Amino acid sequence: MNVVSLESLDVAGKKVLLRCDLNVPIKEGVIKDDGRIRASLPTIKYLLGQGASVIITAHLGRPKGERKPELSLAPVALRLGELLGTTVRFSPEIVGADLGSVQAGDVVLLENIRYEASETSKDEAERLGLAKELASYADVFVSDGFGAVHRKHASVYDVASLLPHAAGYLVAAEVEVLTKLTDNPARPYGVVLGGAKVSDKIGVISNLLDKVNVLAIGGGMLFTFLAAQGHEIGKSLVEEDLIPTVKELLERAEKLGVQLLLPTDIVVAPEFSIDAQPTTVNADSIPAAQMGLDIGPKSAEAFAAAIRQCQTVFWNGPMGVFEFPNFAHGTKVVAQALTEVQGLSVVGGGDSAAAVRTLGFADSDFGYISTGGGASLEYLEGKELPGISALA
Ligand code: AMP
Repeated sequence: MNVVSLESLDVAGKKVLLRCDLNVPIKEGVIKDDGRIRASLPTIKYLLGQGASVIITAHLGRPKGERKPELSLAPVALRLGELLGTTVRFSPEIVGADLGSVQAGDVVLLENIRYEASETSKDEAERLGLAKELASYADVFVSDGFGAVHRKHASVYDVASLLPHAAGYLVAAEVEVLTKLTDNPARPYGVVLGGAKVSDKIGVISNLLDKVNVLAIGGGMLFTFLAAQGHEIGKSLVEEDLIPTVKELLERAEKLGVQLLLPTDIVVAPEFSIDAQPTTVNADSIPAAQMGLDIGPKSAEAFAAAIRQCQTVFWNGPMGVFEFPNFAHGTKVVAQALTEVQGLSVVGGGDSAAAVRTLGFADSDFGYISTGGGASLEYLEGKELPGISALA
């Protein structure tokens, strides 16, 4: 993946349109994790240092073309200003924003770009219309919203065709790490996948099977694997329609000689609740009235041992319902093992990143924490990322 570097773009004294990923969790106006805002700071600071003015466009959630007040970026403008130590002007308008008075050193954040239905439109002409509006605000475009680069959206993809462009520092760093994971990774190479749904991860598993040495599966998705092996899974999460596909994957893994790790013990409970009573059972004997909410302690240890001996590890998705302390153990043990990897350890995805922070780990404990779960998974799935290809 070749992208134009930030240093090679002339930004001195220019108006820069900057796409950031500021899609942070916000509850009742309070930002719960500002990791993505912090991750956008190096590029903004560099641009300001070059005497540029910075007009930022970003999205929050999925307002689907409607002005939903709870998805306004206004609280993000305040937090960004605090972190930069300057005032960040907030523009409620996206199309027709009044930017005439913007001067060198100014930072403006435009309202949630997904309030405009054309941002995500499948119709190229509609998207291009919005992209032209955004392009009219600036002399150059810098793309730094890694979390959205797998989307063919106006502010991510189309605008790059209209202005001289470059990748910001975050996008460049993410691309560098992803390249390390795919081009000749140091071996053994292990991938640990969890999270709720198999359907989100099936493409990645399929594409990675002949590239990895170890593949460990936890989270809600593991029960579709246990079901495919013919085990009783009680009331656990399952995607019945994917059982045949999972059976094929299991057969392929065996033929390829990949070490496919599935848990041998499971922490179960009678219901999905924070104070549900946990019990540990063997993975092949989950009682009919119970549901699996975490990998068991023996499995967590086995996963950790496999991870520790890898030189390259990518992890996406919690091993259990880590939001409930009784079911967070597996995720904690796996996270801890990643911190002990001698080579490159990568935590992929905004949600996984939030999980490790919730569990008390620091960003610096890991080799790299990716800001874009969907984007990194699509890349590892072997798909082209339109927002990266546009930066060549
Ligand atoms: P994802 O967004 O696909 O990465 O899924 C993350 C969510 O999966 C977290 O909120 C976890 O609580 C949930 N999860 C993990 N393991 C399980 C499980 N065994 N049963 C139900 N949900 C789970």
